[in-house]
Amino acid sequence: GKRNTNEPEFMQAVMEVAETVIPFIEQNKKYQNKMLLERMVEPERVIMFRVCWIDDAGHTQVNRGYRIQMNSAIGPYKGGIRFHPSVNLSILKFLAFEQTFKNSLTTLPMGGGKGGADFDPKGKSDNEIMKFCQAFMTELAKHIGADTDVPAGDIGVGGREVGYMFGQYKRLRNEFTGVLTGKGIAFGGSLIRPEATGYGDVYFAQNMLATKGDSFTGKTVVVSGSGNVAQYAIQKATQLGGKVVTASDSSGYIHDADGIDADKLAYIMEIKNVNYGRISDYVTKYPNAKFVAGQRPWEVKCDIALPCATQNELNGEEAKLLIANGCICVAEGANMPSTPEAVAAFLSAKILFAPGKASNAGGVATSGLEMSQNSLRLSWTSEEVDQRLKNIMANIHAACVQYGKDETGFVDYVKGANIAGFVKVADAMLAQGIV
Ligand code: NDP
Repeated sequence: GKRNTNEPEFMQAVMEVAETVIPFIEQNKKYQNKMLLERMVEPERVIMFRVCWIDDAGHTQVNRGYRIQMNSAIGPYKGGIRFHPSVNLSILKFLAFEQTFKNSLTTLPMGGGKGGADFDPKGKSDNEIMKFCQAFMTELAKHIGADTDVPAGDIGVGGREVGYMFGQYKRLRNEFTGVLTGKGIAFGGSLIRPEATGYGDVYFAQNMLATKGDSFTGKTVVVSGSGNVAQYAIQKATQLGGKVVTASDSSGYIHDADGIDADKLAYIMEIKNVNYGRISDYVTKYPNAKFVAGQRPWEVKCDIALPCATQNELNGEEAKLLIANGCICVAEGANMPSTPEAVAAFLSAKILFAPGKASNAGGVATSGLEMSQNSLRLSWTSEEVDQRLKNIMANIHAACVQYGKDETGFVDYVKGANIAGFVKVADAMLAQGIV
């Protein structure tokens, strides 16, 4: 830990894994004395670079770009790109570390990586976004490739940004390959990729609820965020008979007690994906809803909570409030949205709790399906991709149950996901020798 003490988010992610994986290693001789966890916490490679671009006013701007190539034991590095002013080495290392376990859980051949820049897309023109994406890719292109490292989207990086980065990669390399996922359908993207993380999160929750003979039907659902993951979590939870009553962004949350139906969700998509605006605009069109500035939605009474915004957005007090209000199921759509205190509260209350590395793995799994389609030069139908996504989420759920169920029948999905994710990467590392 000494090397990383100034990296709190990375330490947090590692501690959570270590707490469950170290006892497992102690019980399994083949994983002992090989420094497996010690090797896994050290990225294979970290690239940091200057990103220089010219804004609309003609001023030169400088940002810092990163790519963490964490682990390639089971496949090419794979993980998203984040553009947000908070981006730093600690946050990207935590994300790349989690990604390694998550990608292992999908059962697809993908290693772990993550990247991004401390660039703030808010308020930037489309031209500025394009210039930034091109400048970012000009350096990144030297380090990635369809068989080396395949980035995707994350916070602040959606279809538009992936398109600009793909265009620049193709221009620089004179190669049309599946080097990025989350591409537009016209140039190699997969159907259902935009929906996959949110849908997968809800499918995972559906699998958890089924262990109790329960379902989304008639349930009140609280969602945080209003970006890619949140939007499709809202859509699928609603399709399955749930009533979603909140959405949020970094300025606050909206509470619509009547439920966010398909028309209202279309308006959220317009606010966020077309106008790049604020969630508070929702109440101008739907005045029965209220906007609560500067707060998070966990104070709203619900049966199911889906945190889909960002890391550490749900603390111990909020977790206790959710439990006290009768919440029975929490499935993380975001990466590490619950603080360690919140995770401890959910586990001790023994409610259904899924960590992001299991419940949000549908996004990267579908990126893996996009890579397969690109390699085959084929496109599968929506139904086919959705069915594969459902199967993968069911298999991840089963793996968590296999490694996480105790004598009383309680499933610790944190333990299950960490151990199931660890085993495949560890086996591959052992087989490949000390490298
Ligand atoms: P988007 O950029 O589409 O949306 C992010 C949402 O979270 C926005 O509503 C944003 O609000 C809010 N948000 C971002 N940062 C903060 C912050 N510091 N405080 C409060 N709210 C914040 O990103 P995604 O939906 O793609 O990603 C959301 C989460 O899901 C992230 O944790 C990401 O790592 C994870 N994830 C995403 C996957 C994907 O396929 N996209 C796959 C797996 C995990 P605002 O508009 O105000 O910034």
